[in-house]
Amino acid sequence: MSDCLFCKIRDGQIPAAIIFRDDDVLAFKDINPKAPFHQLVIPTRHLASLATADETDAALLGKLMLVGARLARESGLAEGGFRVVMNAGADAGQSVLHVHLHVLAGRVLAWPPG
Ligand code: AMP
Ligand code: ZN
Repeated sequence: MSDCLFCKIRDGQIPAAIIFRDDDVLAFKDINPKAPFHQLVIPTRHLASLATADETDAALLGKLMLVGARLARESGLAEGGFRVVMNAGADAGQSVLHVHLHVLAGRVLAWPPG
């Protein structure tokens, strides 16, 4: 999608600290980290929101989770604990309409979130 921030990062039109990519997903550092470790895992295919995803997206959404867990593990943070978050819709704080999984770690994370 031409006016999507994360599609532009995927296409190299906007710089980002890319951590991992394959045909399905792309992971990069969040520009405004909320924890010492804060990375985003996105599908390379534009998908606006979990709210509008369907069964055909199931494998892709599952892969975001598994890649997020692997990134935390490879950074030595999985044992201490990490959190994955996907905001969907305005009330949840979704500000970029391209599905993204937040992976947060490196500090004690309060619960419940705000
Ligand atoms: P959300 O509020 O759940 O939609 O999350 C969007 C996230 O994208 C926020 O945590 C932002 O800090 C992050 N973000 C916005 N612009 C960029 C960018 N250019 N590079 C990396 N992360 C970004
Ligand atoms: Zn997009």
